[in-house]
Amino acid sequence: MADEQPTRLRDYGLQSERLLWPTKGPSRFEEELGVDELERALGITTLEKAVRWAQTKSMWPDTFGLACCAIEMMSIVSARYDIARFGMEAFRSSPRQADLLIVSGRVAHKMAAPLRQIYDQMLEPKWVIAMGVCASSGGMFNNYTILQGVDRIVPVDIYVPFCPPRPEALMEGIIRLHEAHQAGVPPAYERVGVAT
Ligand code: SF4
Repeated sequence: MADEQPTRLRDYGLQSERLLWPTKGPSRFEEELGVDELERALGITTLEKAVRWAQTKSMWPDTFGLACCAIEMMSIVSARYDIARFGMEAFRSSPRQADLLIVSGRVAHKMAAPLRQIYDQMLEPKWVIAMGVCASSGGMFNNYTILQGVDRIVPVDIYVPFCPPRPEALMEGIIRLHEAHQAGVPPAYERVGVAT
């Protein structure tokens, strides 16, 4: 029967001449170890995974603080929290050298345009963390001066709750961002687009 014949991987659009046996399962060796375990045990990976790993180990934040939350953000470079463990202690003064924008504080309408300009000047891939309730939703500042959520002008990858979030909470957000990127989740601007 035709469907019992081995099929070439290129029939499925893959660049390979290897045969695909529909009934062939993983080998005993692969079953015992599991594919992920096998990758770890042998130290093999794909180029995409290696690049993503490297990007999470050198994610440089932009030097950008808006309000009280910025004090908590600054403390993550101190010896107590030691963001250098992730290769992230180099806060950059130029958005062209930064990957990560931590919006730490309430965003006044007056600051919306400069913030968006900084985001636009950052090179891709780039990520945004909304730190604290004010950056995430306007928080208790439900008035005409404050932007009711920074995601109205830039796509946000991670929201960190609380007022103010402790440095541990920001670290948790950063670790979640690393995990998502290493798992292959695209940056927010690819998923939700950028408002014009
Ligand atoms: S969330 Fe709290 S600490 Fe952060 S900017 Fe708003 S009022 Fe200040």
